[in-house]
Amino acid sequence: MPESVPRSGPKIIAIANQKGGVGKTTTTINLGAALCETGLNVLVVDLDPQGNASTGLGIEPEDREKTTYDFLLGEVTAEDAIVPTGTERLSLIPATVDLSSADMEMMSNKRRSWLLRDALRKSEIESMGFDYVLIDCPPSLNLLTVNAMVSAHSVLVPLQSEFFALEGLSQLMLTIREVRQSANADLRIEGIVLTMFDARNNLSQMVEADARDNLHDLVFRTVIPRNVRVSEAPSYAQPVLSYDTTSKGAAAYRALAAELLKKNTPVAA
Ligand code: ADP
Ligand code: MG
Repeated sequence: MPESVPRSGPKIIAIANQKGGVGKTTTTINLGAALCETGLNVLVVDLDPQGNASTGLGIEPEDREKTTYDFLLGEVTAEDAIVPTGTERLSLIPATVDLSSADMEMMSNKRRSWLLRDALRKSEIESMGFDYVLIDCPPSLNLLTVNAMVSAHSVLVPLQSEFFALEGLSQLMLTIREVRQSANADLRIEGIVLTMFDARNNLSQMVEADARDNLHDLVFRTVIPRNVRVSEAPSYAQPVLSYDTTSKGAAAYRALAAELLKKNTPVAA
């Protein structure tokens, strides 16, 4: 039966798209950092075995003692798993490659789709003062992504401004519909954000027009430009907002955060 995700506590957003390399991790890190800049407290849950969000936020593999894997399997509390990052008010539950086997181990569990939700609830994450939880999903519509969608109030979809960008969306929408029917009736689509946008490229313009024609208000007004500073920032273990605070990429993620905040008052408020 579908159950409702509690309306008290932080707003939980799954950042998902089954395509790899479309800007999920980049958006998780930088939207998170931009929300923090406005004074909010944000928790990033790295749900991708590749652990790119963990690396990008400066948490090296050897420092990932308690991970999303342990958290999902109920072996550690959020309090034990959460680590601070170099960005003020931005915390993280890191991931390691362990998580790639979680998918298999979870299969035999009756509550396999609810594990993350159960873990978040049991941890009383609601009382820990977070305004937002951003879940960085793996590039697949697997059980991990389903767990994110079952736990979340909404799904935010980064869409790379390139040919065939819209093609995978129907499968993603279908998964969202299935999750609504089976587990999380109130799951919303937070919005679709165009990433790696190149204003000088006709293709980018066409993808944007196509997305707005078909998906209307679901598409954020803010587009994230392709910006070399954005791609450099993770190797300096920082969000672009601190790596190059005046870059176009930083400005775009600030605008995205402002647009998101305008659309919805945090559940905690
Ligand atoms: P995903 O998490 O969907 O696999 P990533 O966020 O890791 O995608 O992004 C894929 C690659 O594209 C990374 O190397 C990242 O640095 C780069 N990238 C993402 N967004 C931008 C951008 N706006 N400008 C330039 N490079 C970007
Ligand atoms: Mg990623």
